[in-house]
Amino acid sequence: MENMNKKKTTICAAIKRTVRAWKLFWKIMPGWFVATFLKGIFSAITPYVTIWFSARLINELAGGRDPMVLRHYVIWILASSAVLMLANAVFERWYKAEDCTMWSRGNIIYMQKLLNMDFVDIDSQSVYDLYMQIMQSQNCAAWGLMESLSLLESIVPAIFQIIGGIGLSVSLFSTMVPDNSKGLLFLNSPLSIIVIVSALMLAAAASPWCATKGSSYWSRFTPQARFENRFLSFFGFVSTERKRAADLRMYEQQENVCNVYSLRNNAFGPHSLMAKWARGPMGLWRVASAAISVLLTGVIYLFVCLKAYGGAFGLGSVTQYIGAITTLFIGISAMLETLGNMRINAEFLETTYELIDMPNRMYQGTLTTEKRNDRKYEVEFRDVSFKYPGSDSYALRHVNMKFKIGSRLAVVGMNGSGKTTFIKLLCRLYDPTEGQILLNGIDIRKYRYDDYISIFSVVFQDFKLFSLPLGQNVAASRNYDAERVKDCLVKAGFGDKLEHMPNGLDAYLYKDIDKEGVEISGGEAQKIAIARALYKDAPFIVLDEPTAALDPVAEAEIYEKFNDIAGDKTAIYISHRLSSCKFCDEIAVFHNGEVIQQGTHESLVADESGKYYELWNAQAQYYAEEQADE
Ligand code: ADP
Repeated sequence: MENMNKKKTTICAAIKRTVRAWKLFWKIMPGWFVATFLKGIFSAITPYVTIWFSARLINELAGGRDPMVLRHYVIWILASSAVLMLANAVFERWYKAEDCTMWSRGNIIYMQKLLNMDFVDIDSQSVYDLYMQIMQSQNCAAWGLMESLSLLESIVPAIFQIIGGIGLSVSLFSTMVPDNSKGLLFLNSPLSIIVIVSALMLAAAASPWCATKGSSYWSRFTPQARFENRFLSFFGFVSTERKRAADLRMYEQQENVCNVYSLRNNAFGPHSLMAKWARGPMGLWRVASAAISVLLTGVIYLFVCLKAYGGAFGLGSVTQYIGAITTLFIGISAMLETLGNMRINAEFLETTYELIDMPNRMYQGTLTTEKRNDRKYEVEFRDVSFKYPGSDSYALRHVNMKFKIGSRLAVVGMNGSGKTTFIKLLCRLYDPTEGQILLNGIDIRKYRYDDYISIFSVVFQDFKLFSLPLGQNVAASRNYDAERVKDCLVKAGFGDKLEHMPNGLDAYLYKDIDKEGVEISGGEAQKIAIARALYKDAPFIVLDEPTAALDPVAEAEIYEKFNDIAGDKTAIYISHRLSSCKFCDEIAVFHNGEVIQQGTHESLVADESGKYYELWNAQAQYYAEEQADE
């Protein structure tokens, strides 16, 4: 949408994109489509039925005045009106019931895409920007997928208005003015019919064209709206963010927040560019559209009245033709305006499909990892180098590593040395830029992605829990084995706290969903995250700084129990605290993305020129100072 000079979307492409949007929605809410169709059809044909019977009635009143015939028409008018009004009310109600949940149900399209997207994509700024662009267009004026539904809502009645209008007005042109009305005989000539029909068509096209021209200003406003909406959606919610509340008060930022919010809100206020356009060109295009409609109605009245005056048909038919052609005109205008809006919306849909069509490269592998009871999964890094997407420098360089089954590997190194990146590659959240990672001798890209990640339990440094019951958090599922969940929580050191929770595993974490929810500390959350990793019971367990938020007692407990916790699993353990790595079978020292040393604690600490020795001594000195202070 940024590039306003790009070629306009053709109507064919616009229809294709809109139909695709309808298909996407059809899968999740077919009821909405049925209700919209029925509502559209009935609301379009109702006026025609009334027009047709009223015309017959008026003709009879102005002509034969046969009481039987008159009664017959009155009964038909009343009966058909009653049935149609009832049907309209039923379908309108059904449509409303479907429509009020349409936005929340429609959201599932984006949810499914984002939840199942490759990590590398969801982690990238460009994908985030794309999604925000789509959301802001949608929130600003419903452009995008949601607009495609509004288009369907307008197109259905328009189609039936056109069909009905043509049906009821054909005889206007085929009924001739009798020969005795000399001055009006020109109304019978094919030329006058061509002129009047062309004028009608032209006006029917010009009116929606002007209206669409007015609407097109919305898409020009998009880049600015997107930018301003970012401020609004961020600062608009700052006051409700509990985690920000203390900081905000300490630094007295309340006024600043309100100022930024008000300033940006002006972008949509009476002095904004959009408001200026609305008062100026947008408004003028709308006025022109309405003026053409009024002019056309005048032309129709003139043509129909002249024909009736000339004696071509009676008073009742005048009502029929004026009603039919006016509704036909409304139908054609609505159809053309909808097609115009469809073209505008197609540009927004293009952005939407850019996101929806993003391929899941990770999921292209086909091999299944054998379900091995002996859990003998051997992973090897073979000369792996990696650059983050969009970054010029390597975060990992020439890493070679073979994980010995059932062993404990500690990964140490300074901040930014590549430890977490190494774990992310191991779990295939990213693919290596160079080199290969092998599982039992086969490149991991050849395995089904979901199969491959099922062999890892990871506690990331920045793990997140859900505002859901404790049991569901640990099991990562609604159905779980309560005894096993409890066992994992006890192993992770959460047993005492669990005993004091009246609702036990059913207690909600945090208060977002349940006001009785339990607020847990960072350390408790970390224990729950460790329990979740244990419950998954995968052959590999990876703990990235697992004790950073734990108090010294809890930390000591985890170390003591670590062998128990890890059991027969292959364990990888990242820690800044080198004393906690001593128990590992092997230690890999990362520095600037490379593994510069590898061995047991004893062998590494013996190498006085090595990085490990340096890190070890720095911490040993710190502990010594701590002890001296005590
Ligand atoms: P460690 O876990 O040892 O602290 P990381 O693996 O997190 O280090 O980071 C290694 C390098 O990769 C750092 O230079 C860091 O800035 C960079 N890095 C980490 N994450 C990203 C990312 N998402 N995009 C770009 N660079 C990143």
